Amino acid sequence: IEANFSVIEKENGQENGVIAVLHDVTEQERVEEERREFVANVSHELRTPLTSMKSYLEALQDGALQDPDIAPQFLEVTANETDRMIRLVNDLLQLSKMDSKDYNMNVATIHAPQLINQVVDRFEMSTKNQAIDFKRKIVDEPIAIKGDRDKLMQLMDNIVSNAVKYSPEGGSITVSLKQEKDRIVVSVKDEGVGIPKENIPNVFDRFYRVDKARSRNLGGTGLGLAIAKEIALAHGGNIWVSSEWGKGTTFSFSLPYAEEVVIPE
Ligand code: ADP
Repeated sequence: IEANFSVIEKENGQENGVIAVLHDVTEQERVEEERREFVANVSHELRTPLTSMKSYLEALQDGALQDPDIAPQFLEVTANETDRMIRLVNDLLQLSKMDSKDYNMNVATIHAPQLINQVVDRFEMSTKNQAIDFKRKIVDEPIAIKGDRDKLMQLMDNIVSNAVKYSPEGGSITVSLKQEKDRIVVSVKDEGVGIPKENIPNVFDRFYRVDKARSRNLGGTGLGLAIAKEIALAHGGNIWVSSEWGKGTTFSFSLPYAEEVVIPE
């Protein structure tokens, strides 16, 4: 807290009173500090792939291009780094849109079990070579929620793609959808690496990763869960995690019901 005092004097110089103005600078400082940290993080996240690309390109210029054994490999690394930068910039744009006041959602009535099943279908197809065993415990009746279809798909995508990323080959992932009194709860449970207890409170923070090198190698941006959280909150829902190091992780989110009936498409 910052305080400014002014003394009020009478014409004869005698003190008549004191005015104290108090400012809460802590909140202002915190916001400023967060902003600085965010910019530093973004710069670092972009510099890492750029530095790596530069060294591979230099090696290619210095002769590696003529070596048919290593040239394709070096080009692949630079292509992967480019992909990751594109993902990072897309994630940043999405977060910045959600931060701005005029963030508008394309709200429609959605059949929740159908949307969840669609996402799981897609991952089942795309993870065939990792032999992930998807299990479903999804209620088989029309449940209406109100929301932005693309955003909710993205929320699911971010959580399921993490479950896949941090699962061993052949691991099982259980996706469930339960009805509660005034909300639905979707859970994604994996048998992967898990999250140590002390890291759990931070996993929804922007750029936070438990294992930086591992996340980078898997192509992560460190923004997936921050985006998932923004989407859940924007829908009047919530998101949380329970996990045991070495055993597995369950991410869950809730969404309120819509006061409407929905017919499956
Ligand atoms: P990333 O792009 O690094 O995956 P996220 O924001 O999606 O970023 O996740 C943040 C961190 O949370 C990850 O780096 C990882 O350490 C941890 N995490 C997320 N999902 C899981 C999971 N299913 N199992 C284990 N750790 C996870």
